[in-house]
Amino acid sequence: MYNSSMKARYQYRIYPTDQQKQSLAQLFGCVRVVYNDSLRACKDSEKLPKNGDLQKLFITQAKLTEERLWLGEVSNVPLQQSIRDLGVAYTNYFNSLKGKRKGKKVGSPKFKKKENRQSARFTNLGFSIKGDQVYLAKIGSLSPVWSRELPAPPSSVTVIKDCANRYFLSFVVEVIPKIIPAKNQSIGIDLGIKTFAFMSNGEKAESPSYTKLDRKVRKLQKKLARQVKGSNRRYRTRLRVAKKHNQIADTRKDFLHKLSTKVVRENQSIILEDLNVSGMVKNRKLSRAISLQGWAMFRQFCEAKSEKFGRDFRVISRWEPTSQVCSDCGFKWGKLDLKVRTVTCISCGAEHDRDENAAKNIEKVGMGNRHDSKWTVRAGKTTLVAPPCDLSRITDPLGR
Ligand SMILES: [Zn+2]
Repeated sequence: MYNSSMKARYQYRIYPTDQQKQSLAQLFGCVRVVYNDSLRACKDSEKLPKNGDLQKLFITQAKLTEERLWLGEVSNVPLQQSIRDLGVAYTNYFNSLKGKRKGKKVGSPKFKKKENRQSARFTNLGFSIKGDQVYLAKIGSLSPVWSRELPAPPSSVTVIKDCANRYFLSFVVEVIPKIIPAKNQSIGIDLGIKTFAFMSNGEKAESPSYTKLDRKVRKLQKKLARQVKGSNRRYRTRLRVAKKHNQIADTRKDFLHKLSTKVVRENQSIILEDLNVSGMVKNRKLSRAISLQGWAMFRQFCEAKSEKFGRDFRVISRWEPTSQVCSDCGFKWGKLDLKVRTVTCISCGAEHDRDENAAKNIEKVGMGNRHDSKWTVRAGKTTLVAPPCDLSRITDPLGR
C-alpha cells in the first residue's frame, strides 16, 4: 500500500510584473465571483446542483449578460476549476458531517472575500512549463524562484496572493514515496512549553524564540487600533502586521517540518501524548499560544509523514501518569511540583531528568511496555489505554 502514489505540494515565490499583477487581480476577482455565485445557488437550492449546470449558468451564460460580461476577459480554466473546487469543498463537508473523514471537522463552504488570500487554479489545459518559465493562460510567462526541483510534471498549479501581498505558484505533483528503513525501533516524545520536545533517547529540541516578533506584533496591533478605519496608514499597518505574522508562521513551520522529518525518518514507531490543545489555546499570551499551536501542527506533520514513510504513529492518553513514574523500575512517586526538574527514584536509585523520564514513559506506554522492561515482568497488569483518571494503573513493583 505504501507504493501507491500520493499528492504533494510544491510552492515557489513569484514576482509578477505590474501588468501581470493587474491581470491576476482581474482573474482573482472573476474566480471569486463565479465561486460565490455558485455557492449562493447551492445554498439556495434544496438539492446540490450539478457541476455542469453550475458551469453553464455561472460561466457560459453569465458571460453573455451585461453585468458579467468581463468574465470573458480571463481564462476559462480557473473559472471552471473554482466550481469543481466548490464541489470538493461540499463533498469534504458532507463526509466530515457523516464522520467519514479523518482529522479536523470541515465546515460548510464559505463565501470568498476580497480582503482574504486570493487564489486561482489552473489545470493542465491552462498552463505549461518551458525551461525555467511557467506560462499561465492570459497572464503570461512567470519566473518562479525554484527553491527545489519539481520531482515530476505537475497536474495543476495554483496562483496565490497572500494577505501580505506576496505571490506564489503552488504545484500539485504525484509522487511515489520512498520507504527508508528506520534506525531505531521507537521513540517517545514529551512536548513542553519551554523546551519544545524531549525525546526518550535523551535528545531535545528547542523551539525558535518568537518573543521579539511577538512584541513587535503587539505594538503594531496597538497602533492599528488607534488608526482611522479605511485610511491609507491603517492599510499599511495592517500589511505590516500580516507580514510579521507570516514571518512567525514561516519560522515555526520550518522548525516543525525539520523536526518531524528527522523523528519520522529515524524511528519506526513514534509516540506522542494526546494533548487537549484546543482547550488550552484560549490563552492570552501569544508566545504561549504559538507553542500550543506548534504541538498540534507537530502532531499533524508526524502523522502525515508516518503514513508517507510507512511508520507507526501512536498517541497515548493524556491521563497516563508519565511524569509520576520511574521509567527504569516503574515505581510511582506521585505528582511532582512543576519546579522539580530532576528526580532520584527512591526505589531503584536512578536519577532522572523530569522531561526525559516522561518521554521514556510515553515510549513505554505506547509500545505496550514491550521491550527491555523490568516493568513488564513485574507489573504485568499494565494496559495500553488507561481509563481516564485511573492514575494507579501502574502498580508499585515492590508492593509498597
Ligand atoms: Zn526507579
